[in-house]
Amino acid sequence: MGGDEFLITFALSKGRILDDTRPLLRAAGVDVTEDPESSRKLILATERADVRVVLVRASDVPTYVQYGGADIGISGKDTLMETDTTGLYEPLDLKIATCRLMVAVPDDTDYEALVQRGRRLRVATKYIDTARAHFAKKGVHVDLIKLYGSMELAPLVGLADAIVDVVSSGATLKANKLKAVEKIADISARLIVNQAALKTKREALMPIIESFAKSVSK
Ligand code: ATP
Ligand code: MG
Repeated sequence: MGGDEFLITFALSKGRILDDTRPLLRAAGVDVTEDPESSRKLILATERADVRVVLVRASDVPTYVQYGGADIGISGKDTLMETDTTGLYEPLDLKIATCRLMVAVPDDTDYEALVQRGRRLRVATKYIDTARAHFAKKGVHVDLIKLYGSMELAPLVGLADAIVDVVSSGATLKANKLKAVEKIADISARLIVNQAALKTKREALMPIIESFAKSVSK
């Protein structure tokens, strides 16, 4: 594959982040040339012959960029907080896909009283390390239960007293008779770059990063 060393691989995940990212890709001249939601392809061409997009799970984006499977990518801060980010450079807060990482409990739970009581809390989440650090700082003892999705279900069936999850409008919590009681962090999508690629492919990468920076500051 001649010329492969000039190819920039951009890792993205379908859904929210991709929707919010496409205007930025367009402004940088590297938008995908087919509809990512309807295509079954995992590698998509962009408007530039030397740039391609790979579609991976949101939680896999940092891994692809870290190990050089992609040179650049976009990942939620929630995912980055849960990941070992060695070898990743995080140059830009894109201020898209914004939400909050929250503790939530059933509507009828008195969270303060529950915490005061000092009993161990059962907390279901996919953000195990972030949740552990949060409750340790508060001095609250927790048993953490790892889930991969639909965290809202856990308190409804008695699997957990509380959940830690990302919340934007709160509609999903409300629909499941839960309420957010504590903010752990404000979340937004971040541009991430492979540190080695930033050196070896600097000339190709910098204009893309700079275009993204310009879009954000508008
Ligand atoms: P995976 O499919 O790998 O398990 P996921 O289901 O979390 O990941 P998405 O739901 O597409 O994937 O979420 C991707 C990112 O979008 C999250 O990491 C978070 O930063 C952001 N996000 C998630 N939920 C919301 C929300 N309700 N509002 C805004 N941004 C959100
Ligand atoms: Mg998902």
